[in-house]
Amino acid sequence: MDSERILGKLLENNIHITLNLEEAHSIIINTCAFLQSARSESEEIIQEFIEKKKAGIIKKLIISGCYPSLDGNSLMNRFPEIDAITGTNDINHIIDALKSDRKGRFLSGDFELVLPSRFLVTLPHYAYLKIADGCNHRCAFCLIPKIKGNLHSLEREFIVREVEGLANNGVKEIIITAQDTTNYGADIYGKPMLIPLLKDLEKIKGIEWIRVLYTYPGEVTEGLVSYIKNSEKVVPYIDMPIQHINDRMLKNMNRVGQRKDIEKILELFKVNNIAVRTTLIVGFPGEGEKEFEELKEFVEKMKFDHLGVFKYFREEGTKSYNMENQVEEAVKERREEAIRSIQEKISLERNNTFIGQTIPAIIDYYDEKEGVFVGRTKYDAPEIDNIVLVKGDVIVGEIQDVVIESAKEHVLTGRVL
Ligand code: SF4
Repeated sequence: MDSERILGKLLENNIHITLNLEEAHSIIINTCAFLQSARSESEEIIQEFIEKKKAGIIKKLIISGCYPSLDGNSLMNRFPEIDAITGTNDINHIIDALKSDRKGRFLSGDFELVLPSRFLVTLPHYAYLKIADGCNHRCAFCLIPKIKGNLHSLEREFIVREVEGLANNGVKEIIITAQDTTNYGADIYGKPMLIPLLKDLEKIKGIEWIRVLYTYPGEVTEGLVSYIKNSEKVVPYIDMPIQHINDRMLKNMNRVGQRKDIEKILELFKVNNIAVRTTLIVGFPGEGEKEFEELKEFVEKMKFDHLGVFKYFREEGTKSYNMENQVEEAVKERREEAIRSIQEKISLERNNTFIGQTIPAIIDYYDEKEGVFVGRTKYDAPEIDNIVLVKGDVIVGEIQDVVIESAKEHVLTGRVL
């Protein structure tokens, strides 16, 4: 979504965007930096374009986003061929960097959100909507507050105007993101305002589905669960990364809340038929077999609708970097694989229960190679959850009732009624 804002800003300034490298004068690389793997990937791409600059194919190389915010100096020292760096949310400075002959840093460092228009690069019927950036939590494994600062929310009026614009351009599904969506508004309104925002967005004509990602377990209230359950447009789906379930691990991770709080809120989602996606970290420092067994049993018992499991990575600059009892890589891998294989079985069992049911699905695109329409049910977010292969009288971009005929771990097959 930040890249879409950069593209919007370029167009606002009458800067021509091209997909043809031969035509390009300047290259802007928008980076992610909160994991070492993301930084390495950014570095590889930067190096690739440095070669192109040396070969005279491009004239100017600008690096934007999280990496310059985290460590702009070392980036400039290591890659002196970079012409300019701009930080996260420093979109206005990209234009300065493009127009200026000066080399170097164009960083404001104030984490201010800028509000240029967007140029969508997703499919035309859905759009991600970032309602805030930064985070007030301080999870021991996470670099994000260091890169993006504390929570800073966009004003409701601006978000509503943006979604009205998206709806006018044919967007039907809005996918709400932030580092912590549940805390939205606490910085500018003095209290969390996610529910009032959802109410505003539901009123917008043309928006049919609203999906909430990245909630924080300690902040999900019974009111939010009940709002989602009774809403006509907010789909029965929530993304709530819990990271672990053992109380000692949660405390060491510096997470707010304990097992009993997480269980209580997950129970509420279950009885209200709201699909849950969660994320877990295995191999955090101090995670012994006992703590891991507790996590494994919890996954078996809770039967999450969708689950992502990641090995803990010792990220320099985080609180957990210097913690004792770091877990061996082989152990992390074994644990990751164990959780993954439990979840595979759960996913298959769950998907089999859909056979014979009629479920609304949004039709994303036609896969020419496979000769089939591909969509998602209301229980699935794009790119990370299940897909549904749809036959019958299908219209791309529409939400249609689909009868599910067969199921695999991550793919459903169905027919439009
Ligand atoms: S809540 Fe998320 S973004 Fe915030 S510190 Fe924890 S992991 Fe990082």
